[in-house]
Amino acid sequence: MNLYTALRAGFPADLDSTAITADEARYSWRDLERGSAMLANWLGQLELPAGSRVAVHADKSVEGLVLYLAVLRAGLVYLPLNPAYQAGELAHFITDAEPGVVICAGRHFGWVSKLAFQRGVRWVFTLNDDRSGTLLDRAAQMRDRQEPVSRQPGDLAAILYTSGTTGRSKGAMLSHGNLLAGARTLRAYWDWRPDDVLLHALPIFHIHGLFVAINGALLNGNAMLWFNRFEAAAVARALPEATLFMGVPTMYVRLLQETTLDARRMRLFVSGSAPLLASTWREWQARTGHAILERYGMSETLMLTSNPCRPDDGERIPGTVGPALPGVGLRIVRDDGQRCAVDEIGQVQVRGPSVFGGYWRMPEKTAEEFTADGWFRTGDVGRLAANGWLTLIGRSKDLVISGGFNVYPAEVEGVIDTLPGVGESAVIGVPHPDFGEAVVAVITAPGGAAPESLIAALKTRIAAFKVPKRVIVVPTLPRNAMGKVQKQLLREQHARLFQ
Ligand code: ATP
Ligand code: MG
Repeated sequence: MNLYTALRAGFPADLDSTAITADEARYSWRDLERGSAMLANWLGQLELPAGSRVAVHADKSVEGLVLYLAVLRAGLVYLPLNPAYQAGELAHFITDAEPGVVICAGRHFGWVSKLAFQRGVRWVFTLNDDRSGTLLDRAAQMRDRQEPVSRQPGDLAAILYTSGTTGRSKGAMLSHGNLLAGARTLRAYWDWRPDDVLLHALPIFHIHGLFVAINGALLNGNAMLWFNRFEAAAVARALPEATLFMGVPTMYVRLLQETTLDARRMRLFVSGSAPLLASTWREWQARTGHAILERYGMSETLMLTSNPCRPDDGERIPGTVGPALPGVGLRIVRDDGQRCAVDEIGQVQVRGPSVFGGYWRMPEKTAEEFTADGWFRTGDVGRLAANGWLTLIGRSKDLVISGGFNVYPAEVEGVIDTLPGVGESAVIGVPHPDFGEAVVAVITAPGGAAPESLIAALKTRIAAFKVPKRVIVVPTLPRNAMGKVQKQLLREQHARLFQ
């Protein structure tokens, strides 16, 4: 069993039909099959030891997707990295992952190859987003047929570094079996149709764009409209031709600024990776008639919960991430490990066939994050309603303890975001001489919200210990490539506020 073989089985019978349209370029299913065979043959003849990592630090391109398939076929381990990483960051990942091969953009070859060779990497090739680079040159001479290397379901297929939202990124080790289980579950639950057309505008170094979007489309033989970058105007123009779109919340916010959003052909809008504001959800429904399906997952586990897709499974509700997906075990526990009551806030723990085997070269961390009875501690905090629907409250690392009271930032943010004049908000804890930590809100105020009146308004809505001691207005919140607010950065910036 090799994940590629399972994906390949989903390709349509007519291999000359269009698989991917990217600008003027068109790729047939046969192009994906042949291109990945050639690259796999090239990787194969490098004779890397089994389990070798292929690190990819390249701009998004369809050839990058073909390379991912080739790494699977060759039985190697795919290791995508955010191409925005600079030398210091990349040096860490290369030292940690010890890849056998590094692929980078041609314009970065100088510094990337230097730091890779210094760390014992034998091969560095280039891949650009205009179908050029030494990798493609070399593979051009290879045979376009290849038998995928046989793999066991437990064999490593990819190492996916987490987004680094709460600290240094950790390498999540995902097997062929994990990835296939994740893709099959979504195919059924999201009701992928043979004629679905996926508009793909997410990065492909992250679980959302790679394993949710791409594996889903390939497993079901669906065509993709491909964008190397997310640009709201271009994506809005292509919407009428798509039936399926996956985005992070900021993409929806940006799309709402477009004058035309023609979603008549659209079947499903999916959001995830970061919390989607209920106000965005409502505005989207008012503009397009579509209820965005919000789902929840993480690099370590693939998708865990999802709002319903079929009407029979219920209505989609903004602010919740839905019930556990079929096959996923989900429980909420107190700090002492006891199960929480219905609606009681606690730690989210999960298990299931898509949950990873552990963190790359972090056996202690891996042991810490699994309970004695085999559940994975997600690090997220939430509550389960009586009907089994999950509402996320925040991350356990975000919890603010002020004067001995627990404050969940997401709760306070939810209230702040409804106040007039506020754009968005991030609530953090910063060191405080009396309270230990003080609640601080960093907000954007496109509508001119003033800190003093906000604090006064909050005092009538939430308990005094939850009300921010300080409200700081900024032009924009710092976000990473997946639209996640960089709270660690905000905590560092404001660490001395009360000192
Ligand atoms: P790190 O683990 O390095 O701190 P990260 O957790 O952000 O970074 P990812 O694996 O990319 O790295 O993201 C998973 C996390 O994203 C989840 O644990 C959860 O906190 C958040 N997340 C995903 N989907 C949603 C959602 N729909 N609503 C709120 N949060 C979400
Ligand atoms: Mg995480």
